[in-house]
Amino acid sequence: MSDGTNIRRVAEIFCSDPARRYLVVSAPGKRFGGDAKITDLLYETHRAVAEGREPVIFRKVKERFFGIVRELGISFDIGSVLAETEEAILRERSEEFTASRGEYLIARVMAALLGVPFIDAKDVVRFSDDGRLDAGMTFSLTAEALRGKERAVVAGFYGADGAGKIHTFSRGGSDVSGAIVARAAGAELYENWTDVSGFLACDPRIVDSPAHIASLSYRELRELSYMGANVLHSESIFPVREANIPILIKNTFRPSDEGTLIVPTAGYVPAARPVTGIAGKKNFAVIYIEKSNMNGEIGFARRILSVLERRGISFEHMPSGIDTISFVIDEAELGEGTLETLEREICEAVHPDLCKTLIDIALIAVVGHGMSKTVGTSARLFDAIARAGVNVRMIDQGSSELNIIVGVDNENYERTMRAVYDEFFKK
Ligand code: ASP
Ligand code: MG
Repeated sequence: MSDGTNIRRVAEIFCSDPARRYLVVSAPGKRFGGDAKITDLLYETHRAVAEGREPVIFRKVKERFFGIVRELGISFDIGSVLAETEEAILRERSEEFTASRGEYLIARVMAALLGVPFIDAKDVVRFSDDGRLDAGMTFSLTAEALRGKERAVVAGFYGADGAGKIHTFSRGGSDVSGAIVARAAGAELYENWTDVSGFLACDPRIVDSPAHIASLSYRELRELSYMGANVLHSESIFPVREANIPILIKNTFRPSDEGTLIVPTAGYVPAARPVTGIAGKKNFAVIYIEKSNMNGEIGFARRILSVLERRGISFEHMPSGIDTISFVIDEAELGEGTLETLEREICEAVHPDLCKTLIDIALIAVVGHGMSKTVGTSARLFDAIARAGVNVRMIDQGSSELNIIVGVDNENYERTMRAVYDEFFKK
């Protein structure tokens, strides 16, 4: 969606199959390496407004949209819409409002190009006052707006609360909007057109041309995208999952590529390999707590959890053994000195035999429904890691046996990913 040519390409794809009814758009991205995404320019615009500077950067946004409309050769008065938008940005002084305008503007342009109604997400995607999606309200408002419309364009990424104040999802959130519209429309399929041909079994920046994943279950997708496989926003599964609507990831630039089909977990037949994909992230801290007879002590975990809750810290994983429990926390959650505070407060709360903290840990998630049915998968996994000379700092097997999470030092992250990939995909 970066320029006129690509916007036409999207319009052609949309029109090439009458079963495609509703189009959810995200803001124009980069046209070339080093170019700016419209959404990033808008965040910068807001920073200028908030700091009382002239938002000169908004000129770039205007130029991009003027250029797009010129290239498309449509008679759409983008000038007036941009002028109104600029005024509203200066008046509202809200980061989320400003950031959402890329989707608003491109949806208006797209609706004009296709000659179909434009649906403003502020009228159909409902957030609560504290900025969380009100799913029930959203589905019914969206369904109502779509009713009777053969086709329509909906702006992605944002919505509004009951008072009309604009809220956005987190970055990449147009994927969530797409899922909402698919759900509200009772769609047979949610197609997500992007710039890659679906999911790969490992990060291509670490492993050379990793295997392509033809199909995944919702659960596997959730595990992989949560752990950094960034093809689809990790929250885009919820709206479609309850309605069993499959998601098909397709590449706008290579429409004949197969893509990745994401299907309901029940009835999903895993691939012949025990492992479907591998993903990972660096920079976690692990608080490790040991106390003999911990399992007999009622309320032990709760007292630790209250410490985290009081400090407003969320944790990612909680591996536990008979006398041990660990909390894995994203280091981005931690401020200066937070770990020391947590350690001290945990000691006061539960008087452990040992409480220590590991930092700069990378987590690697090995994901696949096939694992639970294949004897020896974890033996192969840990053997491969050992052969790579890497020391495992933490292990957590999700209770679903869908994933095994391995913690290693940040510096061993890439090496471990390669060793695990080679073990499961090159043999
Ligand atoms: N434009 C928004 C972003 O850059 C949302 C999206 O692209 O899905 O994050
Ligand atoms: Mg996207």
